[in-house]
Amino acid sequence: MKSLLVNRQDLKHNIRVIKEIAEKNGRSDNHKPLQIIAVVKGNGYGLGLVQYANFLIDNGINFLAVSTVEEAIKLRESGVITKIIMLSSTAIEKEVELLANNNIIISIGSKDALQMAQKVAIKLNKTIEAHLKIDTGFGRYGFCYDKKDEMVQALKETTKTDEANNTDKTEKTNKTDKTNETANIKITGTFSHLSLAFYEKDKFSKQQFDRFIDCVEFLKQNGIETGMLHICNSSAFLKYKEMRLNAVRVGSAFLGRLSIPNIYGLKKIGFLKSNVAEIKILQKGYNIGYSNSYTAKSQTKIAIIPCGYADGFNVSVQRDMFRIRDKIRYIVRDIKDYFKKQDLYVEINGQKCKVLGRIGMYHVSADITGKDVNINDEVLFNVSPMYVDSSIRREYR
Ligand SMILES: *Cc1c(COP(=O)(O)O)cnc(C)c1O
Repeated sequence: MKSLLVNRQDLKHNIRVIKEIAEKNGRSDNHKPLQIIAVVKGNGYGLGLVQYANFLIDNGINFLAVSTVEEAIKLRESGVITKIIMLSSTAIEKEVELLANNNIIISIGSKDALQMAQKVAIKLNKTIEAHLKIDTGFGRYGFCYDKKDEMVQALKETTKTDEANNTDKTEKTNKTDKTNETANIKITGTFSHLSLAFYEKDKFSKQQFDRFIDCVEFLKQNGIETGMLHICNSSAFLKYKEMRLNAVRVGSAFLGRLSIPNIYGLKKIGFLKSNVAEIKILQKGYNIGYSNSYTAKSQTKIAIIPCGYADGFNVSVQRDMFRIRDKIRYIVRDIKDYFKKQDLYVEINGQKCKVLGRIGMYHVSADITGKDVNINDEVLFNVSPMYVDSSIRREYR
């Protein structure tokens, strides 16, 4: 039976490493420690939403982030009481209502979303906690950075701020824990999302950061409190100390699966486990797998394992996010790989075994010639946990 294995010790190690980096944070203008917001979207990056969230909480994480209403509700229904923010802004009434009823911090990234939040707050007679989302060049959720006036206008329209409270602006700007009470919306944070932080030569992130700070200053000048500020995802958090502000949103780093070089000693989390179903010996010249792409060069002992690309094995991330010159670079690399015939391996009893022939939808064959391998032995596949079907059991051990 297949499962997705999560090594508890390794995951604990990664949480510790990330916390240590956060604690060493140089910038602490409000003398508060850097808040880690653990992103658990996409079924907890494949580690199982509820199991993963509880593991993080048990290891000292006190703030979670999700991307969908479903994820937020699922966490609450399973008994998670930690602070949760929904990172996507929504102006859909039903969604805002569900989020508000479940005490989820919402993101407000448009006038529509703001007005809807207010409508729902009044309807439920409840104060809704929210973070403002600013689009600094991602082109998705958030108030556009180049339309600051519209954002402030919209906020002022819904704000019942007491003028007297805003006289001492200099005092207020130095504090980040003050909140902005609108009619029934309490703004406790302001954030933005970077589009290229994993990229090596990354001028754009700095540009996005500057745009963000510029918007934050503008909000403050207009008497709108911005709450905790955050822009970093994993790559930016690790790479750019100066961008950490009050909080960082960390996802992939917990899994040690970064798009930047892992110089932090983070361990890879999440391996697909299957078991050897059959073993057999093939004579020299025998074909293995679809399209006869592999022929045994000598007598070969193989293990047949019921696990394939439908389980996420050797499925790589789509590359359409890259620019033309990156695409060309990747094509060149693919061609090089083709001639090098990059071998794929699985791990059986701690031994690296080469995959022979094409990977099937649900099956692979591995070379175990001269190796101590038996039927039912555990086989580990290095997969991206996110691609592993959520119906497959997540096993923390
Ligand atoms: C996914 C996501 C993150 C976390 O990104 P990682 O690179 O996995 O750390 C942070 N913020 C937002 C808005 C996200 O959608």
